[in-house]
Parts: sequence; structure tokens; C-alpha cells
Amino acid sequence: MYDAIVIGAGPAGLQAALTLGRMHRPTLMLDSGEYRNGTVQHMHNVVANDGTPPAEFRATARAQLAEYADVEIRDVGAQRVTGSAGAFTVILADGSSAEATTVILATGVADDLPPVPGLQELWGTKAFSCPFCDGHEHAGRSIGILGPAPRAEHLIGLLGRIVGEITVFPVEQEFSAEEVQTLEGLGARVSASPVTAVDRDGDDVRIATESGEQKVAGVCVAAGTLRHRAPFADQLGLLLLPSGSIEIDDFGRTSLAGVFAAGDLAHPASLPGPMASVLLAAAAGQFAAVGVIQSLMAP
Ligand SMILES: Cc1cc2nc3c(=O)[nH]c(=O)nc-3n(C[C@H](O)[C@H](O)[C@H](O)COP(=O)(O)OP(=O)(O)OC[C@H]3O[C@@H](n4cnc5c(N)ncnc54)[C@H](O)[C@@H]3O)c2cc1C
Repeated sequence: MYDAIVIGAGPAGLQAALTLGRMHRPTLMLDSGEYRNGTVQHMHNVVANDGTPPAEFRATARAQLAEYADVEIRDVGAQRVTGSAGAFTVILADGSSAEATTVILATGVADDLPPVPGLQELWGTKAFSCPFCDGHEHAGRSIGILGPAPRAEHLIGLLGRIVGEITVFPVEQEFSAEEVQTLEGLGARVSASPVTAVDRDGDDVRIATESGEQKVAGVCVAAGTLRHRAPFADQLGLLLLPSGSIEIDDFGRTSLAGVFAAGDLAHPASLPGPMASVLLAAAAGQFAAVGVIQSLMAP
């Protein structure tokens, strides 16, 4: 019987396990090897780790966790979580199971990308969604934003002062005249024709459109829709927010006693959505671990 099973070993799960290990709380951390930034070569906006490869970050965290006798790590997926406060069972993909007093869900989210051939292949190397993570590296270069228009407006506001020429491409359906006017009013060029494919062209990205036109940009920016990587919120009937994330309080408590959540899959109702970043996921992992320890100490 563990004090906590941490499902997920991205920044949220790794930090949660570290805090629990330091407090000598028997902890099992599970990892199916599916990281949101799994294709990213260098992460940014992480103090003291600006430019560090995410794989190196995870390897360093694991090496440091190995020093803590109370933390056990298994590279296996979790399939099902059952139980209630004080007694949870996690069924693992290898057919075994493990039991714990509490569970921390840190399984993150996946990005379902717009249906543009080639985009998945470029994701994390020449295609991004987050200006805070990847804008500065493309300072002064031309970029292509792949619609929709409201998201493009927001991105232009954030990236306009960093990058060079911005061209916005509709996906699947042309922009309305009003959308074109708004985007052009923000200083962007607008492609009349929807994007049909993207691919790498040396250090650039070639963006092809239905009209046969091809535009070369330094990078393309697109936003996917976020999907929970694992089914546990549904399995446990956890309360979700309008963003689709698990609702948590400041200490990572979900609507089910004994179940905590941290990282990209959860946020407090005071925030409009998940603040998806390595640093904030790790911070949330620490909050959740403290929440677990509080709950274990409660009379
Ligand atoms: C292209 C891209 C670039 C980014 N660049 C940056 C950047 O430069 N700087 C930055 O701060 N942020 C960046 N981010 C955001 C950052 O990657 C996330 O905010 C962060 O990884 C969230 O951490 P997490 O621990 O919540 O989830 P993740 O890092 O996604 O980790 C989820 C963990 O859960 C595990 N898991 C999932 N399902 C199961 C299961 N069933 N059983 C067991 N384990 C499971 C996975 O294996 C993984 O260990 C980027 C995101 C993307 C998409």
C-alpha cells in the first residue's frame, strides 16, 4: 500500500514524486512514455533550464529521484483507477495492480492538430502553438499562422512585436471578408486560399494552399484542441471546468476526496484554462504533493 500513486512523469508528476519522496512518503510513479513535449528539442521560458532538451530535464529529474528510497518508478501505463478516499486501486497495462491511499493524476493532455497534412511531422520542431515557449527563437523571421481567425488575432497580438512578417492561412474554409479586414488591420498578410499542406524546406517551412501558391516561412504556428491523455477523469466522475480540464483547488484536490490532479490536465476555476508550461506544471505537482501530505496527516 503506497501513500500515493502518481500517474504521469512529466514535470507535474516528477515534481510531485520528488516532494513526496523528500517527505518519506511511499510513492509509486507510473509513466507510459507519452509526453506533451515529446518531440521538442529545446524547451524555453523555464528558469535555469532555458533551452534544455525536455528529455534531458526528465532524465535529470529521474536520476535525482533515484536517491529517494520511498519513490518507486515503473515505466508502465495505468489503465484504470477505482476506489474511494483511503483505498484506491490502479490497474496497470502489464496486468498487475497497485494500491494507495491517494492518487495524483498528472497524465497531461494531447494536442489534436488541425487537419493539415505534414503538420504532425513538424510539431515541436517547426510548428508550435505557444508564443511564450517558442516565439523569441524566431525573432525577426517570417511566420505562418494556420487559422482560425480569432486565435490568429490573439497570436498576432503576442507575436507581432517579436517576429517579422506574419501571414495567416485559413484551414479548410476561407476567412470571411470581415475576418480578413480584422487580420489585415492588425498588420498581417492574409492568404485567401486555405492551406493544403506544410513541409520542411531546409530551416524553413513551405506552406502550400489550395490555389497552388507556396509560401516559405521560418516556422508555422497552429493550435490544436486539447484532449485528456488518459481516461481517469471520466472513470472517476471528476468535476470538469468549461475548459474541459479537471477542476482543482489550490492544493490540487479534485471533486473526489483522495484524488489530486496537477499539470496541463487541471486548473483552479479562477483561471480561464490550463497554464500549460513546464514550470507551472511542476509547481502544480508540488502543490498536489503538499495536498496529499496534508490529507495523510489529517486526523
Ligand atoms: C510543441 C510544444 C512545445 C512546448 N514547449 C514548451 C516550452 O518550451 N516551455 C514550456 O514551459 N512548456 C512547453 N510546452 C508545454 C509543456 O510541454 C507542458 O505544459 C508540460 O509538459 C505539462 O506537463 P505535465 O506533467 O502536465 O504533462 P506531460 O509532460 O504531458 O506528462 C504527462 C505524463 O503522463 C504520462 N501518462 C499519460 N497517460 C498515462 C497513463 N495512462 N499511464 C501512465 N502514465 C501516463 C506520460 O507518459 C507523461 O509521463 C510545450 C508544449 C508543446 C505541445
